[in-house]
Amino acid sequence: MSQQITGIGASAGIAIAKAFKLEDPVLEVEKKTIEDPKQEIERFTDAIAKSKKELEAIKVHAEKELGEDKAAIFAAHLLVLEDPELIDNVKSKINEEMVNAESALDDVTGMFITMFENMDNDYMKERAADIRDVRKRVLAHLLNVTFSSPSMITEEVIIIAKDLTPSDTAQLNRNYVKGFATDIGGRTSHSAIMARSMEIPAVVGTKKITEEIENGTIVIIDGIDGSVLIDPTSSELDEYRKKLDKHIEQKQEWAKLVGEPSKTKDGQRVELAANIGTPKDLEGVLNNGAEAIGLYRTEFLYMNRDQLPTEDEQFEAYKEVLEKMEGKPVVIRTLDIGGDKELPYLDLPDELNPFLGYRAIRLCLDEQTIFRTQLRALLRASAFGNLKVMFPMIATLDEFRQAKKILNEERQKLVAENIRVSDSIQVGMMVEIPAAAVMADQFAKEVDFFSIGTNDLIQYTMAADRMNEQVSYLYQPYNPAILSLVKNVIDAAHRNGKWAGMCGEMAGDETAIPLLLGLGLDEFSMSATSILPARSQLLHLDKAEVAAKLEEVLQLDSSQQVMEYVRNHFFQ
Ligand code: PEP
Ligand code: MG
Repeated sequence: MSQQITGIGASAGIAIAKAFKLEDPVLEVEKKTIEDPKQEIERFTDAIAKSKKELEAIKVHAEKELGEDKAAIFAAHLLVLEDPELIDNVKSKINEEMVNAESALDDVTGMFITMFENMDNDYMKERAADIRDVRKRVLAHLLNVTFSSPSMITEEVIIIAKDLTPSDTAQLNRNYVKGFATDIGGRTSHSAIMARSMEIPAVVGTKKITEEIENGTIVIIDGIDGSVLIDPTSSELDEYRKKLDKHIEQKQEWAKLVGEPSKTKDGQRVELAANIGTPKDLEGVLNNGAEAIGLYRTEFLYMNRDQLPTEDEQFEAYKEVLEKMEGKPVVIRTLDIGGDKELPYLDLPDELNPFLGYRAIRLCLDEQTIFRTQLRALLRASAFGNLKVMFPMIATLDEFRQAKKILNEERQKLVAENIRVSDSIQVGMMVEIPAAAVMADQFAKEVDFFSIGTNDLIQYTMAADRMNEQVSYLYQPYNPAILSLVKNVIDAAHRNGKWAGMCGEMAGDETAIPLLLGLGLDEFSMSATSILPARSQLLHLDKAEVAAKLEEVLQLDSSQQVMEYVRNHFFQ
């Protein structure tokens, strides 16, 4: 029997491959006196050459896989490696102080890092991060420690890591990375969301996977039930290969629904839309028959680079999505940075509770240059398709009004410049803060639409961090408290003649779908891979019948009871 570890199934599918541990190397620098500085300098030069070769390969690879802008960070690292001031300083230190290369490098880079960090300019501060990265790479060569980088993977693997940051995930090459398993995280952490949009199986929140697995061991991950099998036996391998075949077969069945409308057994139409993080996700969206984009998370445009994207860069990305969707609705959300999505080059202050802190619309209303640049890009792109603009993390009406006012100001400026802007852009908001869900009626008078962000709405309503697996039992989409907030939002929208969608992960969840249908949700936006299973499920649901039972469901007193009710009444 193999060893089995259970976590949270974060992206459906089965993967079988070698483990590739992605970990920060332990680099302990010890200061030593040396006898032969010439030899030590050679060691240093050799480590620099190896690092350079490695970085050049990563850069070429990243340019191909992720595009020039995201590869720019590696070009910056190469510049650090070639900086004569840094190299000469290390060499002189070795020569003059007769110390080993590791400690000379550590001292010199340390000095540069402090110098850059103390500068007033954000761009210069960011150089400190580049030097830190380069120091790590060169030290790893000097100390003979393996340094693993997701963008260097060139064979089929399953990544095993404590956590994957959104920027790690963005560097993964889907041809080689067959899946991943992490110690921390939950179904709605961003690495899980990215895994679903990249269609790679993932298990998160295993608590201890990195302790249990050696590099190179064969592992199976089952992203459907959340299990990881380490060093499987041949009969387990057979069993999972069969399961994988069955999964593929089911996908072929679903594929028949690609061009079909989304409707229920009693002929009621709803819209099944997709969530995307980058224009690269569009292929999956179109292959999975999405009728719209219900959420474009623009923050990924701002990641894995060392400065803000320009207005033109953003315009091109938004235009590409709008054009490729050929007039179908595209909801683009303005920058939602903060929480677990960091932008190191913005140099934001560390916070005790980043999910409750300076993020999303709060930051945009404060840093208006960033916000206005994005809005201009969006407005210019609106001429190329059916754009709907959405503001994230709205807590008060005043925030919505301010954001909308700034949008209108930018529109007027563009019109004055004779730049074409669509005059039918809907402006809506995410409902992901309980205060907004409770006050939905007042908001509904001013917005064009709502999109319920349950990933955050649940964490704030239940006061349970969506990233923390210790409290993941409180992450309860079917809790009657959540259902009643969702109902309030949908009812308020309809009373005011507006539409209500949902772009949190709950929208694609098979247990939640009957409930949301019964509550009258108009648009369900989900990971592309959930669309066809959802369309197939809807064909078997009678909307009128489900709606009639909802009164009873809302009276139940736990998430567990709701789940059982749905399984007993609405599952085939
Ligand atoms: C949400 O909070 O439900 C949501 C869709 O936004 P994000 O997951 O990007 O926070
Ligand atoms: Mg959110």
